[in-house]
Amino acid sequence: MKHIFHWAGLASIVLACLLLVLPGATEAARHTPVHELNYFQTSKVKVDGRDALRIEIGMDRRNLEYSVSSRTYLNRQLIVDMDNTTPGELRKDISLDSKLARSVKLSEMENRHTQVRVDLLSDVDTANYKVYTAEVDRQARKPYRLVIEILEPQTAAKGFETVSGLAGHVIVIDPGHGGSDSGAVGPTGVMEKNVTLSVAKKVSSILEQSGARTIMTRKTDIDVYAPNDTATEELQARCNMANYAPGAQLFVSIHCNAFSNPAASGMESYYYEPSANGARLAQLLNEELEKAGGLLNRGVKTANFYVIKHTNVPASLVELGFITNDREEQLLNSEDYQNKLAAAIVRAIARYFQ
Ligand SMILES: [Zn+2]
Repeated sequence: MKHIFHWAGLASIVLACLLLVLPGATEAARHTPVHELNYFQTSKVKVDGRDALRIEIGMDRRNLEYSVSSRTYLNRQLIVDMDNTTPGELRKDISLDSKLARSVKLSEMENRHTQVRVDLLSDVDTANYKVYTAEVDRQARKPYRLVIEILEPQTAAKGFETVSGLAGHVIVIDPGHGGSDSGAVGPTGVMEKNVTLSVAKKVSSILEQSGARTIMTRKTDIDVYAPNDTATEELQARCNMANYAPGAQLFVSIHCNAFSNPAASGMESYYYEPSANGARLAQLLNEELEKAGGLLNRGVKTANFYVIKHTNVPASLVELGFITNDREEQLLNSEDYQNKLAAAIVRAIARYFQ
């Protein structure tokens, strides 16, 4: 911002000098028309697969000169200065119904320019906005305009595809074990509690990115009830999170298998027998995990596991593979493989809601 005023000041000194020697040149400068902004629209759009807010500010002219900057003391304000324009009737503070930006303000400034300030809900980052001009679109009845797009900030799930059909759904994800309970441990020391949490976080990221809401029974390496609690206390605490969460629709518990014989291998999914919806969920999870992970498919099975028996919503427990098997321990511990399994779990959930 400082730069703009600085340069503007300098420009007027230069103009004053020119006035003395070159009256013709100043004549032209004085007559650079100021255009009134007369079109304003916001819309929710997708840009590069990300949710975005598009702000369009139009005028009856072409070849707008503008500059983009940000207020660094807050770092949440994106500023666009539009030369030779006046906000006219648009001079106002417009609050936005958006999860990306709070409001947009158009102000008439010195030196015949309009300043647009967008108050963002996250930090200004060049990866998260685009500013450009667009030509007249007669079909859409849009004039020549400045377009500002505020994109949803990229999360840890960067690179994941979003999955359709999940918007508005509420899913409980239960990473098995945690805290004082490591779960099974592989031959090189990989702990089940860490694999399940890592995969669960990826599942949650993809779900959220796809418009669903997730409830994680744990987000860190903790016991959900208390350290060294009983199995019942711990597992009931996890069920409670699903049973008392408003709007919860599904429960998916993530585990790794273990056996004394290191040759045991493969994946499987479980449901609680009376639940037909649980059976369908377990079936879909099994299909997607087999396709994505490529392990031996041990099938869809019934069991009385606590978390699938005591949850009120359709539930399934998946065993991603055998952590006691050398090859599967390495796969389960790999970022790439975890990404594949997480995406598969989300696809299964999306199919469940179809
Ligand atoms: Zn387990």
